[in-house]
Amino acid sequence: MNPIATKVAVIGAGISGAVCASNLAKNGISVTIFESARGPGGRISRRREIGEDGRELYFDHGAPCFSTSNADVEDMIKGWETRGLVAEWTQNFGSFDFITKKFVNLEKEGLNKKYVGMPGMNSICRALSQEPGIESKFGVMVGSLEWLENKDLWSLKDKDGHDLGQFNGVVASDKSTFSQRFTQVSGKPPPLDLSLVPGLADIIKDVPVRPCFALMLAFEQPLFSIPLKGFSFENSEMLKWAICESSKPGRSTSSERWVLHSTEQYAENIIAKAGLQKPSNAALTEIAEQLFQEFQRTGLDISTPFFKKAHRWGSAFPVTSIATNEKCLWDAQKKLAICGDFCVSPNVEGAILSGFTAASIFTESVSRL
Ligand SMILES: Cc1cc2nc3c(=O)[nH]c(=O)nc-3n(C[C@H](O)[C@H](O)[C@H](O)COP(=O)(O)OP(=O)(O)OC[C@H]3O[C@@H](n4cnc5c(N)ncnc54)[C@H](O)[C@@H]3O)c2cc1C
Repeated sequence: MNPIATKVAVIGAGISGAVCASNLAKNGISVTIFESARGPGGRISRRREIGEDGRELYFDHGAPCFSTSNADVEDMIKGWETRGLVAEWTQNFGSFDFITKKFVNLEKEGLNKKYVGMPGMNSICRALSQEPGIESKFGVMVGSLEWLENKDLWSLKDKDGHDLGQFNGVVASDKSTFSQRFTQVSGKPPPLDLSLVPGLADIIKDVPVRPCFALMLAFEQPLFSIPLKGFSFENSEMLKWAICESSKPGRSTSSERWVLHSTEQYAENIIAKAGLQKPSNAALTEIAEQLFQEFQRTGLDISTPFFKKAHRWGSAFPVTSIATNEKCLWDAQKKLAICGDFCVSPNVEGAILSGFTAASIFTESVSRL
């Protein structure tokens, strides 16, 4: 098959889908990305909020930064750095112990290099999804994938049954494309019917995930009592991480912005009581207040923020990795690749490796025809 004549649909413009699409397009394959959200990024999204006084506030409310120890990923990051999409975040990091009320484990500038997207974490996905050879469609949720046996093509439809076109291959970069959780949240069957890929069905039938709440805070003045710009919490049942958003390179410093992450256990307890449906504004306000009060219980001098809002990540972290060695799953006959962090490791590095591998396997299979 001629790569130029090959049309591939990539479902999801998170980092795994964006890396996959970029590498497919570089190899001459024509790519269409479908992303259900309004913009690219997935769990490395950037949130724009408006304060009561009309001020624009930006928060990386998913992954705050990422690291790698993999040479291929490092090479990719260097390329993104050259394009101004990524910068190293050099600050002092550590932990805060709720029992001793002290900062501990201080790491000058961190043990591993920490990278951030510029000027937001989603910038990498945004740039990759605009590369030549890629058409990106945002606000489009793929609702069903039908295999046309007589044509060797996939036919995609959106969630309302509208036609999205026919493709020689599909890359599914989100576990909700096939997981039972999709049904638990939406009441509908997931887009991919697993009986179409019997060889993969047993591996992908379920990928358990853990949730997390992010609390976005903006202060008029810097929190001078905090000597670190990123720290984990020890001995808190509610809080896991605190990250000073405005200390990252390329961010506005007109206010001091922090993002706190809840513990997974705290988020699970809330979901056990409230269910998986989208939380109401009232529920999010209550959660924001609870997490902020825990932040104040550190005893640090924390002033009243002029902006405070919680966000729920229902599927923040996959609990298992389903293709640690292969890095993605592949059905050669139907040209279906499944990639994402849940294949390799629950972080940006794992997602990049998975998307990159899916593109390589895909390209190789097309060039062999
Ligand atoms: C709060 C939080 C903190 C984190 N902290 C870190 C950290 O410090 N370091 C680190 O390395 N990682 C961290 N992570 C993990 C990291 O964000 C993820 O591992 C990585 O972003 C996953 O990328 P992905 O492409 O696999 O999936 P995703 O980013 O989830 O992308 C999947 C995309 O597919 C889209 N999609 C799904 N179904 C459909 C459909 N039917 N049609 C169209 N589009 C669809 C989704 O909207 C989404 O955009 C954190 C995550 C969270 C939530």
